[in-house]
Order: sequence, then structure tokens, then C-alpha cells
Amino acid sequence: MSANGDPQHAWPWHDPDRWERLRRGVGCPLCGAAPADVVAELPASRVRVPAAACVRGYACVIHRAHVVEWHELAPAAAAAFLADVNRVSRAVAAATGAVKLNLLSLGNLVPHLHVHVCPRRPGDRWEGRALDPGSTAEALSADEHAAYVAALRRAIDALA
Ligand SMILES: [Zn+2]
Repeated sequence: MSANGDPQHAWPWHDPDRWERLRRGVGCPLCGAAPADVVAELPASRVRVPAAACVRGYACVIHRAHVVEWHELAPAAAAAFLADVNRVSRAVAAATGAVKLNLLSLGNLVPHLHVHVCPRRPGDRWEGRALDPGSTAEALSADEHAAYVAALRRAIDALA
């Protein structure tokens, strides 16, 4: 958010040069070395589970290559990425007992293909409104995060 409080001025689309660089992968925060919160490496993607996210049990499936849009993937590559997303969605469902999974493919701030996998529960903070996958309102303790990562890894491995 900018100093004047208007979030639109911080939106990267308002700086066409910066946005074009991000689209090309220059300074892309999802490219390069694996961050510490990568919990799984899948055929077409890597999976991140940050300790603080929009919902408890959140996972993010990030395409290995710097691709902006789904339609840039050839059919076989799109199918491979979708298979990873489905595998993680199934694993998150198994590891969390969620009543519904919300999958969001946005990329409005970071134009590198990724899918937010968000397990929903009765009474969660987003009930009755749109979920913001950029929120970090739900923070797991270090022990909770470690336990969830272990459970999710088991669930992902069980679907291999
Ligand atoms: Zn990237």
C-alpha cells in the first residue's frame, strides 16, 4: 500500500516497465533458489507452505518455470501442472479435513504461474466473502507448522 493509502498505486500494473520486467521474470520472487518453506518438489512444480497464510493448512503450488499464464503452457505441460495441483489439493484435503478446497490462480502481484490451495472450514475468517490468498492472518506456531508440513508431506507421498 502506498503512502496515500490507496492500494491501487502500489499495484504493479501501474508501473508498466516494472510489470513488464516482472512478467519476463526479472526480480521474480518465485524464481531461483528454493526458499526454506518449500516442502515438496513435484514433477512440474514446487510446493510451499508458509507459517503464516490466509487459512490454516494453506499450500502454494508454484510452476518450476517462469510462466505467466496457464495458456502459455503446451497441453502436456498444462496437464502435468494440473496433475501436481490436484495431487496437492487431495493431500491438503486429507491432511486438514477441510469441508471444501478453494483453488486460486491469480498472479496479479507476482506474475509467475502458481495456485493457492486453501482448505475451508465452517466458521473460518472468510466465510461468506471472497478469500484473499495474500493474507497472512492465520499464523501457525513453529510446532504447528512442523506438524502440518510433516502431515502434508506424508499425504503428498501417499499419492505418488
Ligand atoms: Zn518467476
